[in-house]
Amino acid sequence: MAVALITGASQGIGACIAERLAKDGFDVAINHFPSDSDKANAEKVAEACRSYGVKAELFAANVADYAQCEAMVKAVKEQLGSIDALVNNAGITKDGLLLRMSEEQYDAVIAVNQKSVFNMIKLVGAVMLRQKHGSIVSLASVAGLYGNPGQMNYSASKAAIVGMTKTAAKELGSRGITVNAVAPGFIKTAMTDALSDDVKNAMMKQVAMGRYGTPEEIASVVSFLCSSDASYVTGQTIEISGGLMM
Ligand code: NAP
Repeated sequence: MAVALITGASQGIGACIAERLAKDGFDVAINHFPSDSDKANAEKVAEACRSYGVKAELFAANVADYAQCEAMVKAVKEQLGSIDALVNNAGITKDGLLLRMSEEQYDAVIAVNQKSVFNMIKLVGAVMLRQKHGSIVSLASVAGLYGNPGQMNYSASKAAIVGMTKTAAKELGSRGITVNAVAPGFIKTAMTDALSDDVKNAMMKQVAMGRYGTPEEIASVVSFLCSSDASYVTGQTIEISGGLMM
């Protein structure tokens, strides 16, 4: 059975991707931040995944921490046997206008959103190189493609993912490993619920489809990129934004 590892999968888009990949037939490794509440949420996600008849196991790790990622990847291999798909989904925001943004706000977002992708692609890439196959999908954002006021840290981290995706695709492609990213626009989750009404209204005016996206609409594209249907797609960042920018 193929195995998918999804980071930050205790809620939101990551939870939805885990369920979708379970529905597709993957055994799923559900990463969650090491806290009791994340673990409890992740256990609910695992239950939902198991209803599709696949294995679903929890793996606690702060993905910004290389040593914790290393231990997690080893544990996934030991418990589930392989890692055939990796979804780098974990992410945070710590918004603030540039002149008010602290160094801590900047560094924290870069560590979780960007360094985690280095940690996970390096570690899981080594596993996939030995297997001679695999698919890697990372969650970028329209903020990384076009910028967004108040998100210097977040847009830097997400723009980096676009470049990291291309680099990893070039390094790993000859061994049958595809590396892609998706760039969601406004998706209805806790992350966007936290935005002010002014920001939400201003952004919604720019969305051609005039509505939020759903986590399921992100999961379906990730599912495609993890499937053999996408076997010749690599190095790409697919925007899923209802036509936010064209
Ligand atoms: P969310 O609901 O806040 O979920 C993010 C998940 O990542 C949470 O479970 C969170 O755990 C986990 N996480 C955060 N830091 C972590 C760490 N250091 N180690 C392990 N897990 C960690 O956000 P979402 O909206 O589903 O976003 C998922 C991804 O899509 C993110 O990369 C985000 O940047 C990207 N994205 C979202 C949107 C959108 O509109 N929602 C748009 C573009 C891109 P905690 O709850 O403990 O923090």
